[in-house]
Amino acid sequence: MNKNAFRQLSYGVYVVSTWDKGRATGCTANSAMQITSEPATIAVSINHDNYTNQCIRENGKFAISILGEHSDPGIIGTFGFKSGRDNNKFDEVEQAVKGYMPVVADACAYIVCEVIDKMETSTHTVFLGKVVDADILKEDAAMTYAYYHNVIKGKSPKTAPTYIAEETPAPSTDGPKETKKEYVCGICGYVYDGEIPFEELPDDYVCPICKQPKSVFKEK
Ligand code: FE
Repeated sequence: MNKNAFRQLSYGVYVVSTWDKGRATGCTANSAMQITSEPATIAVSINHDNYTNQCIRENGKFAISILGEHSDPGIIGTFGFKSGRDNNKFDEVEQAVKGYMPVVADACAYIVCEVIDKMETSTHTVFLGKVVDADILKEDAAMTYAYYHNVIKGKSPKTAPTYIAEETPAPSTDGPKETKKEYVCGICGYVYDGEIPFEELPDDYVCPICKQPKSVFKEK
């Protein structure tokens, strides 16, 4: 089976959020899909290990913030590579309240849902939600998962439904040796590939995705 075929499915980049006893929390997600139009229902897939999963069960509602190509990519890191158990993620990301639910103010649109059903898989819960509110927040093209990979050069956290383990590439037997340095973030997998011409990462460099310092980067 060639799992690269899954990459031909199109996905967006979303923050799925809810309330946790009066505090807003959420996680990055790339699996959200519209199931029916009338009544409008949406499904999201959230890993059992994500704190947001437990909070959605308790709250019975969730919001989807649809990130745009111009949304700050740091939002993906804040919501994707930290746990809401011990981080107030919305302290770092501007929050708006829409349909009585917390959403990301810098998203291009939001959808608020009431949970009407759920299905368990071995690793993820699929929450089916009836849409109770939705609107456009700003004019922007929705960020696709391909854009996130190819332009922002981000990776999936291991809890993402679309996570594919990196395979070791076969050693090249011909052609000139690649000399460009690459640095990989040990937290989120972001690859700094030398588009800005420095040999070494500057001491004050921070990962644009997860905001971790230079010390977590390793030379590839
Ligand atoms: Fe990172």
